[in-house]
Amino acid sequence: MPTGFHCAYPPCRCYVDKPGEYCSAHCRQAKAAGDADTQCHCHHPACTGRAEEDQDGSAD
Ligand SMILES: [Zn+2]
Ligand SMILES: [Zn+2]
Repeated sequence: MPTGFHCAYPPCRCYVDKPGEYCSAHCRQAKAAGDADTQCHCHHPACTGRAEEDQDGSAD
């Protein structure tokens, strides 16, 4: 069980080592852009675990 801090990007569910850190450049940019209400798209399992197929057409 991870004992860290959540990514500084609110919608993100990833853990980071230090408070205020971002799990990825995506989150850093998203936060800087003010996207605080959208779902995180950092593509990390913690965030993408729910949207398996989503609605992006069918599998390849
Ligand atoms: Zn994320
Ligand atoms: Zn993140």
